[in-house]
Amino acid sequence: MSDSALSGVLAHRPTCWVNPDKLPVHAVKPLCDWIVPEEKICDAENRLRRFAPLIETVFPETAPTHGIIESDLREIPVMRTELEKSGNTSVPGRLFLKMDSHLPIAGSVKARGGIYEVLKHAEDLALDAGILRETDDYAKLTGYRDFFRRYTVQVGSTGNLGLSIGIMSAALGFRVKIHMSADAKQWKKDLLRARGAEVVEYAEDYSLAVAEGRRMSDTDPMSYFVDDERSMDLFLGYAAAAERLRTQLEEQKIRIDENHPLFVYLPAGVGGAPGGIAYGLRQTFGDHVHCFFAEPVECPSVLLGMATRKFGAANVHDYGLSGRTEADGLACASPSDFVTRIMTPHLAGIFTVDDRSLYRYLRMLYHAEGIEIEPSSCAAFAGPERLRNDPGMVRYCSGNGLTEAVLTDAVQIVWATGGSMIPPEVRRQYLEAHL
Ligand SMILES: *Cc1c(COP(=O)(O)O)cnc(C)c1O
Repeated sequence: MSDSALSGVLAHRPTCWVNPDKLPVHAVKPLCDWIVPEEKICDAENRLRRFAPLIETVFPETAPTHGIIESDLREIPVMRTELEKSGNTSVPGRLFLKMDSHLPIAGSVKARGGIYEVLKHAEDLALDAGILRETDDYAKLTGYRDFFRRYTVQVGSTGNLGLSIGIMSAALGFRVKIHMSADAKQWKKDLLRARGAEVVEYAEDYSLAVAEGRRMSDTDPMSYFVDDERSMDLFLGYAAAAERLRTQLEEQKIRIDENHPLFVYLPAGVGGAPGGIAYGLRQTFGDHVHCFFAEPVECPSVLLGMATRKFGAANVHDYGLSGRTEADGLACASPSDFVTRIMTPHLAGIFTVDDRSLYRYLRMLYHAEGIEIEPSSCAAFAGPERLRNDPGMVRYCSGNGLTEAVLTDAVQIVWATGGSMIPPEVRRQYLEAHL
């Protein structure tokens, strides 16, 4: 790992690591096509379309998109100006918010991967049992609650993954058991119990909740474990976001090419959600997209995994970091082994953000644009704020031909990953929090 990035991480300072192993898409395409074939991502997109009639029936809030779970891409010009002021910098090009914070059903990015994996599992069971054909109207599955009731779905979570898996599984009729780490917020546990899920609470961190959930599920042949650290299906559900984003950009007449680079900033916990999305984006936009992850200063697990090349074996506690953060969705002490490896040739870099800045961005976004998101989500705003003045990001730009002139026509997207389900009293606390 570069000395300056490492010393920043060890000193608990906001820092930026630039990935030295990133490669042009053409150089890694054959290998990528072998690990995650493009048709698998297509297959995920098609599966989500097959399920759309069922989703629309069970979750009427998806009627406007006919059962497709998708979020708005909204330009946030006032926020852009505020970031320029606060960072004493320029935020070049246009700034957008990808509002997965407001995805229907689960109110977070987990409504992509989590819901996709539950649907895939339900489809597998129903096809096997002969109660479904791929050409059927999938809405018929609403009549098979007793069938799904024989099966259990389990997952370990810091909160939002549990919400998306729990809500979707319960809606189909599955029994659900959610293993929640100590970081999980009370309102998320309450909401899940209200939907009929069993919530198992742990005093320990996320890795233990996952390990325990995996172990308990493995002892029950009727149980299926959604494995946040290892699941290919979760990854594919996230990756399907890329083609949808391409369509949204086209609809808004926004060009992405050599002279109109796309910057995407994604908050990372274990790495699955941002990894799947960024992977899909590289398939879709190739070398014109530049993906950065954002992590808490006290919990940069994906950064450590990739920068030290220890991948899933890295743990923030081994570097004197507490792993504790207000960004509950990002509190994963060790990253996904699979994701840190697969992102190695794709990721531009990772920056870290202190907790105080999370609340600063949260208030700024609310006052500038009237949008409320959760603290974890806010980490990504450090991207545009630091693009022109963080030495690492400046070096990345100059090393990749991203000159001042090109950046003037850049499109920057902050991926908001969660927030719309926060209860009003918790929202108020967030807006009033000053660390
Ligand atoms: C889960 C989550 C993330 C990150 O996803 P990982 O797959 O853990 O990297 C980011 N933001 C929010 C709000 C989340 O819930």
